[in-house]
Amino acid sequence: MNTLIRGGLVVTCDDDDRIVLADLAVRDGAIVRIGDDARDSLGVPFRVIDAAGCVVMPGLVQAHVHLVQTLFRGLADDVPLLAWLRTFIWPLEAAHDESSLLISAELGAAELLLGGTTTILDMGTVHGHDAVFDALARSGLRAVSGKAMMDSGTDVPKGLRETTRHSLRESERLSKAWSGAADGRLGYAYCPRFILSCSEELLRQCADQALAEGALVHTHAAEQEEERRLVRDLLGDDDIALLARFGIAGERAVLAHGVQLRPDEMKTLAAAHTRVVHCPSSNLKLGSGIAAVHALREAGVLVGLGADGAPCNNNLDGWAEMRLAALLAKVRSGTTTLPARDVLRMATIDGARVMGLHSRVGSLEVGKRADLVVVDTGGVHAAPAADVASTLVYATKATDVRHVLVDGRPVVRDGELLTLDAERLAARAREEAPRVARRAGVL
Ligand SMILES: [Zn+2]
Repeated sequence: MNTLIRGGLVVTCDDDDRIVLADLAVRDGAIVRIGDDARDSLGVPFRVIDAAGCVVMPGLVQAHVHLVQTLFRGLADDVPLLAWLRTFIWPLEAAHDESSLLISAELGAAELLLGGTTTILDMGTVHGHDAVFDALARSGLRAVSGKAMMDSGTDVPKGLRETTRHSLRESERLSKAWSGAADGRLGYAYCPRFILSCSEELLRQCADQALAEGALVHTHAAEQEEERRLVRDLLGDDDIALLARFGIAGERAVLAHGVQLRPDEMKTLAAAHTRVVHCPSSNLKLGSGIAAVHALREAGVLVGLGADGAPCNNNLDGWAEMRLAALLAKVRSGTTTLPARDVLRMATIDGARVMGLHSRVGSLEVGKRADLVVVDTGGVHAAPAADVASTLVYATKATDVRHVLVDGRPVVRDGELLTLDAERLAARAREEAPRVARRAGVL
């Protein structure tokens, strides 16, 4: 059914950053009119969402998450990256079965949608990734997702180690099966985990395959000092240079983190149009450092935002990531850097650009898909909400999200998730997480 969103302050995040008090009309899943006469562009009947006193804005885009890890929230605290992976996350991922993968992905999708995130770039685990796509299809999220690819590395559990051939074949099969599924909401990304768990052959071939399909390649890079040192010791160069040499560069390449990037590497990434995703909570919790986001953007690199996985955050809250990104930039690069308006763009239209989805989502413009959220800015913690960008970045919480539409379809109404049973999911997660942890030997 078509929808009229009435009387909200519409924060478009378009090229002119227009903010207008107006109605917004959604017909057949697309935005057809923003203005006082929006109602005229709808036939009857249409549903009305009252947005008076609220902000209407694009759904948040999180360009780096791991839905398969949601079940491991709180199971891997207070350790640095490589120990976090080898002692906790890899054994836990290896202990997943179809049921636990489903619960983990649905739990993550539920948290994301309830918090106003409508689009994600997601990295899965090695096996069973159809379950994640099943969950995504049901949830109503827009997602580009891919299985993790791992054919080498130290301390990789048997359950996650795969041959180069299997990794490529399975990725190709998943890509064929799920690209364009759920009315075009789902897409595939080739996800070599990181350079320490992938052979050169795997990286080269997955870059070729992704290029041939026009798919994204999504990996982790320049995250942590110890990891970087290991890469240099083992392979004789930095991960950024190696990835580029193997073909993982350019506008279809999305690198998570980039905390350790040097200025010369920022220039190289900018020249190649390689994308970077800033994950501030994860970088703090794993002690990785503070990415130089201001310098990256000044160098011309397109930067998105992401919560990463639940065990290194421990939330999937896009508002928290926005607030932290803004605050950390002040410490790293000076108080005047990364103002709220820029952060808001990083979390919406820039994230969509990172994923190559900017012609369809990321801003509120006529012709784009209606992926949008209605946010209540009337709470005492946000009042008086004098500057809307400031309010959204520094004062808004995930619980302020009232309504969420993806493709024009209501997925959250009055703070309630319509596509999945959130309460039941939380209960099932409480039962399932200890089971997986015991199988993994982590509990
Ligand atoms: Zn990650």
